[in-house]
Amino acid sequence: MSNKVTPADLAAAIRNVPDFPKPGIQFKDITPVLADGRLFAGTIELLCAGYKPGDVDAVVGIDARGFIFAAAAALRLGAGFVPVRKKGKLPYDTHEQSYDLEYGSNTVAIHVDAVKPGERVLLVDDLLATGGTASAAIHLLEKIGAKILEVHFLIELQFLDGRSKLKSYPVKSLVTY
Ligand code: AMP
Repeated sequence: MSNKVTPADLAAAIRNVPDFPKPGIQFKDITPVLADGRLFAGTIELLCAGYKPGDVDAVVGIDARGFIFAAAAALRLGAGFVPVRKKGKLPYDTHEQSYDLEYGSNTVAIHVDAVKPGERVLLVDDLLATGGTASAAIHLLEKIGAKILEVHFLIELQFLDGRSKLKSYPVKSLVTY
């Protein structure tokens, strides 16, 4: 039997937590995937499929769960890691972008020199819901001149149609609901 992790393995491990952090939200808990070494490694293999070391200059992760997958993917691809953080957390000069999310609103920021103009990046987050967060991150990356190759998610909530907010960038998600 193959030991290869499939999206179905990930779907089986992702825990649905109803009414978190507020009534009506079905929270997709990815901690069981992280806690299983085989599933975590398999997730990174699936996220990086089609890319090899040298193809990407940096993997950009979105605060906070996106950091986990983006940092591991960066190591896998021999690329740098760049954080898009919540407002007020980055110490140097930043660009900021505000957006609405499934529950509440937020502002994200990136260091003005996080990538050099023309550098090739993958944008990674754990979950695509309405697309507000990823769209704000794309805006920031475009502002500093990054060349966005693809946007990757572990999970996509298709019924919220977040994809339509991500312009023409290719979107890959491993598990869809
Ligand atoms: P959105 O901006 O609406 O696409 O929301 C995506 C961001 O919010 C991601 O960073 C997710 O971590 C988080 N998020 C939104 N909805 C959920 C959900 N149902 N379960 C887990 N995380 C969520």
